[in-house]
Amino acid sequence: MDIRRADEGEGRAGRRRGSADPETHWAPGQIRSGDILYPAMSRRTGGLSLGINLFPEGKLCSFDCAYCEVLPGKGGPAFSLSALEKDLAAWKALASKEVDGPTPSTTKDQVAGLDLSKIPLDFAFAGDGEPTLSSSLFPAIDAVAAARLKWPTVFGAAKIILITNSTGFLDARIAAGLHDAVRLHGLEIWAKLDAGTESWYRKMDRRGPDFESIVASLLAFSRRSPLVIQSMFCKLRGESMADQEMIDPPEEEIEAWALRLADLARGGARLAGLQVYTQSRHSPHRLTAALDDAGLIAIARRAVDAMDRMKAKIPGPKPIRVFGREGELEFPGGPSW
Ligand code: SF4
Repeated sequence: MDIRRADEGEGRAGRRRGSADPETHWAPGQIRSGDILYPAMSRRTGGLSLGINLFPEGKLCSFDCAYCEVLPGKGGPAFSLSALEKDLAAWKALASKEVDGPTPSTTKDQVAGLDLSKIPLDFAFAGDGEPTLSSSLFPAIDAVAAARLKWPTVFGAAKIILITNSTGFLDARIAAGLHDAVRLHGLEIWAKLDAGTESWYRKMDRRGPDFESIVASLLAFSRRSPLVIQSMFCKLRGESMADQEMIDPPEEEIEAWALRLADLARGGARLAGLQVYTQSRHSPHRLTAALDDAGLIAIARRAVDAMDRMKAKIPGPKPIRVFGREGELEFPGGPSW
């Protein structure tokens, strides 16, 4: 398995089909077992994340984000639960040093017979598409939760995270399954909100249900179960493909987005955090570019200001975290709620 840079382009695997990925590097003692479970160094969780790709056969998504790093294309065999279970067992063996691999070099790595560099902070359902489109999502969450119970020294402390574009909340059956997974397994959900208006949403996410219905279902869901909101901001190429200029997100769009967050809080959403981030590598579409750190901080500040302007003191998202091209940024003067 190769350790990838995770959470690029909204938390996906960061893989570019059909092109070499200069930021991929091989893990010591790796197991080459396929493409369903993949280790990645995550900007947002700050350590080793085990990604789970429900679409190893090729991208499947309800959006077509301008900044997406996953290109459509033919991949490997389709997802299977037994393959995931096999990969989990293989990773457990690797972390327990039950398979051949380089001898860890530090005392820290040898604690309790484990290779601590292989102990994941989380399992992240992301991969090549929108996880809620897969009929295997809930069985796969159950399988990961079972692995945590079965091998607590390796997986016991790992969170289970779903990184979603929020379209699944529109489906009552999926929403009910997610509520159950939150309750039963402590599933943490990172839900996309890239815009405040239909117009900017169509530029960023480009395809999908109408924006108002997504926001309404996001609110309905988060009244029952907490959500971490994740918002991608980047420069966008001008309207014409011939236009080489990259434009910053317009001020009115940032304000509209901040007001949406305030509206969610006012409406009773349980917001367990906000992540403002930008892309850390070029997207293959070449339609977007990273925002600079100061721009991202200013955007996060707008969310705080919008919350502060509300007359009733309602708790907004907390913590607020900002991720620049190179990593997490300090966000001074965070939320007061
Ligand atoms: S939501 Fe879909 S199109 Fe957008 S970044 Fe994620 S995988 Fe790519």
